[in-house]
Amino acid sequence: MSHESVRENLEKEKENLVKELDYYKKEDPYLSPDRNTSNTLDDDITEIEGHDRITATRINLKERLGDVKKALVSIEDGSYGECKSCGKKIPAERLIAMPTALYCIECNKKLG
Ligand SMILES: [Zn+2]
Repeated sequence: MSHESVRENLEKEKENLVKELDYYKKEDPYLSPDRNTSNTLDDDITEIEGHDRITATRINLKERLGDVKKALVSIEDGSYGECKSCGKKIPAERLIAMPTALYCIECNKKLG
């Protein structure tokens, strides 16, 4: 697998993540322009739950987007596929399973 095809996949993933983030931003009841401020308690609970769930999803998406961006940068600077900690080559199977991997399996374990 060449880095070029990896880059294409990562660019696609980046686009999807940006779209998803945009979608969840709109879904967040706290950010809704027609948010009803005179909610009943039941509405409040639903709203808080919705907000928490969406916030957790957005944090996860942002982390993934950050990883994708880092991977893209490392393709640009030619360090893609090298462990950021020990500098060894990350095994191809690991990169196929997880194209945004920044560390080899051993360092990943150490870093937790
Ligand atoms: Zn390593």
